[in-house]
Amino acid sequence: MPFKIFPMRVTDSRHVTPSILQLSFERDDGEKIEYQAGQFINIHFENDGKKIHRSYSIANTPGGEWLEIAMSPVEGGRATTLLSGLSVGDVIEGSGPYGRFILKDDEPTRYVMLATGTGVTPYRAMLPLLEERIARGFSVDVLLGIWRREEALYADEFLAFAEQQPGFTFHVCYSRDMPDEVADHECEGYVQARMQQLDMDPERDIVYLCGNPDMVDQATAWLKELGFPIARLRREKYLPSRR
Ligand SMILES: Cc1cc2nc3c(=O)[nH]c(=O)nc-3n(C[C@H](O)[C@H](O)[C@H](O)COP(=O)(O)OP(=O)(O)OC[C@H]3O[C@@H](n4cnc5c(N)ncnc54)[C@H](O)[C@@H]3O)c2cc1C
Repeated sequence: MPFKIFPMRVTDSRHVTPSILQLSFERDDGEKIEYQAGQFINIHFENDGKKIHRSYSIANTPGGEWLEIAMSPVEGGRATTLLSGLSVGDVIEGSGPYGRFILKDDEPTRYVMLATGTGVTPYRAMLPLLEERIARGFSVDVLLGIWRREEALYADEFLAFAEQQPGFTFHVCYSRDMPDEVADHECEGYVQARMQQLDMDPERDIVYLCGNPDMVDQATAWLKELGFPIARLRREKYLPSRR
């Protein structure tokens, strides 16, 4: 079935870390924005006379009249240059929602959710659903990999959530610069290495992996070796587009 393109009006644009830009949109055709936490949208635009599109995970919880995306800059990137130049009131084309990187109908278990960079946005959108699941006996560990502390996207929100929810932990791993003073939830290195210290259990855990394709592939290879069936691995790779 062909996808339906709709107009999206920018309602807010702000840096949420020194490099990451958060953009908010409302549909400009009066229709509702419907999606499930964890899905993504495509934005469509013209480049050199050709129509192209790029995908962005939806960063806010469903149910509102708007959607948010968090965008990491890419030097010379076509979509990221376009998105960086948008002002409130501008209208672009979107389609979606797409994707199956969502919470499924699982029995109570432990979710281990890894992300690099903006790959943490699906988990932010899932927080109210995770709260319901934790109340039903699930536990959840979110691990975010990032270069340095100031780029730890939405870390305050995850930390505040962890304070309220005993069944939830949040860890941040820095692959480039370690802060001088390190908090309990912080560590040095790659997020996939931190995961290996979590007593991973193929019979119990369900693992979500989102963001950098190398992280997703390395984590998948290690988990498979540990005996994880592919059905217990849910993955969203932020693969660069070919055109
Ligand atoms: C399902 C899905 C969800 C995604 N969600 C998000 C999201 O929430 N936030 C977000 O910021 N991005 C997300 N992405 C990535 C996004 O779709 C674009 O690929 C990215 O923004 C770059 O697009 P661009 O048009 O600016 O760069 P392009 O014009 O496509 O690329 C310009 C150059 O940069 C290279 N390049 C592209 N991406 C990278 C990169 N990450 N690192 C280094 N070099 C690169 C390209 O190979 C090319 O040489 C997602 C991708 C997928 C598939």
